[in-house]
Amino acid sequence: MMDLELYRLIVESSPNMIWRANLSTECDYFNKTWLDFTGRTFEQELGFGWAEGVHPEDLDRCVKIYLDNFHKQTRFEMDYRLKNKNGEYRWINDRGVPFYDNSGQFIGFIGSCMDVTEKIEGQLMMKMAQNDFLCNTYNRQYAYQLLQDVFNRAKEHHYPLTIMMIDIDEFKAINDQYGHAAGDLVLTKISASIKSMLQANDILGRYGGDEFLVGLDHKNKNDAIKIAESIKNNISCQLITISEGNKISITISVGIKCLENELTLDELINKADICLYTAKKEGRNRVIG
Ligand code: GH3
Ligand code: MG
Repeated sequence: MMDLELYRLIVESSPNMIWRANLSTECDYFNKTWLDFTGRTFEQELGFGWAEGVHPEDLDRCVKIYLDNFHKQTRFEMDYRLKNKNGEYRWINDRGVPFYDNSGQFIGFIGSCMDVTEKIEGQLMMKMAQNDFLCNTYNRQYAYQLLQDVFNRAKEHHYPLTIMMIDIDEFKAINDQYGHAAGDLVLTKISASIKSMLQANDILGRYGGDEFLVGLDHKNKNDAIKIAESIKNNISCQLITISEGNKISITISVGIKCLENELTLDELINKADICLYTAKKEGRNRVIG
């Protein structure tokens, strides 16, 4: 049987930061690793003292998860930013579990935390590399990469795939008349509107400027035309407020091409783009497929 001192040493020396809370929900223990991280004293951390080190933007969420699970006696896991001894916020992954005495009586929570800053920042960097910040869609490269996989699968298993190219009509005039910021706002609204009409397995990317690329997975030409018509109508009946007293309406043109015997994704996209060009030539605010 190990003696208590050895148990204490193990917990104190754990590479994880460990805390314990009693039935009042207040914390009454922090191991050395925790105190070394925060650079604060045991007394400062006691009770809800630890909350002083949590980033203000994370605190409410963090306390809610903690208390909700405490009262339900359910385990939780959360990420939040905690200030280290150099005053720098680090992302912490904190897992809390209820614990019980030998007779099975609930006596509080134990938590174990790890610094996961590199992992979280890596995920953020990855998101930034894949997304179009303004439109909140995938960027061209990442949408293309995702579509390439869908294209290969669709060809191999002979299921439908349709590409839609969408371009805002006379967008340059909005920039010219109302300024670039108004143009940005229109891009944001239009992309959100397109996104709201798509399903989770569809792929939406900003192809460049005011043009969007959509991959409609498992959808044939008829499905795609219905979707495109809904997107087009939904946009044309909206009034976008670009500044006080200035509401404008926008239209889009859409080109559609369903996968038939195209050999490459580029070929499929080019054919959808040609349909888009025809939609523009025939007067805009229309779907051509
Ligand atoms: P069409 O109906 O033929 O598509 O006409 P258009 O005016 O929409 O086409 P054009 O390609 O001439 O204009 C696209 C404009 O989009 C030109 C460019 O200044 C603007 N643009 C591209 N990216 C952005 C952006 O991120 N923000 C804003 N505000 N404007 C952008
Ligand atoms: Mg345009």
